[in-house]
Amino acid sequence: MCAVNGSRKAAEIRKLVLDMIFHAGSGHIGGSLSAAEILVSLYYGTMRVDPTNPTWPERDRFILSKGHSVEVYYAVLADLGFFPREELDTFCQFGSRLIGHTNTKVPGVEHNTGSLGHGLSVGMGMALGAKRAHSLSRVFVLMGDGELTEGSVWEAAMAAAHYKLDNLTAIIDRNGLQISGPTENVMQLEPLADKWRAFGWHVTEVSGHDFDELVAALNAEKLGKPHLVLAKTTKGKGISFIENQAHWHHGVPSEEQYLQAKAELEAQWEEASGVGAGIRSN
Ligand SMILES: [Mg+2]
Repeated sequence: MCAVNGSRKAAEIRKLVLDMIFHAGSGHIGGSLSAAEILVSLYYGTMRVDPTNPTWPERDRFILSKGHSVEVYYAVLADLGFFPREELDTFCQFGSRLIGHTNTKVPGVEHNTGSLGHGLSVGMGMALGAKRAHSLSRVFVLMGDGELTEGSVWEAAMAAAHYKLDNLTAIIDRNGLQISGPTENVMQLEPLADKWRAFGWHVTEVSGHDFDELVAALNAEKLGKPHLVLAKTTKGKGISFIENQAHWHHGVPSEEQYLQAKAELEAQWEEASGVGAGIRSN
């Protein structure tokens, strides 16, 4: 066991995300920034994984169902040592395995995603398989709120409750925006927590930028039902001019914007280095 400063780690991950997207000239920046604390809480404070043995059979599984937000995922995997950190410089370059959506050529990635609405079905199958194999592996699936308009999400939700998959945790990055605008304008989701409860899930509502709340929820034992962690977040979190702007779903900062963003994230890293909260890591 070791402790990691969650706020400082999230700032480091955001800096890697910014660099990847700026240098590639491409990327989904808003949804990657909103999920930084969620990914840090999962990989540094919850999941049992071994970067030196990515296919360890008893590992916990993670599926990034919102597969376009791949930058934050690659940054965490590289930071943990699943592949060399320098490889992040090849993001979205010709010949690189770090392509713009999640794919299993990358060590640590369990499933190809990007076509939205499929991750929970796959995770549900993994969780059912683990149950039947009497494995202690847990399965975590991170979805965007925009992808909840896909009907396959709700088929999986229904099946997971039917099979009482208490080894399955779904997380919703509830930032309220999707590529085409506010989620409630595109397709009303609320009352979202009640809908998941009605489908037979335990539901825990947290701030998606609060490590204490996230780590407690992700590690909670919820017997007899699958668990949904509804994480309220800010799209573009951490960079002032990107926060809460739907048009930054996909976008590349100009050089001037890049320098400003870098300075903001550096300041957050320095502040966190002094007073950042510690979270425990397996
Ligand atoms: Mg969203």
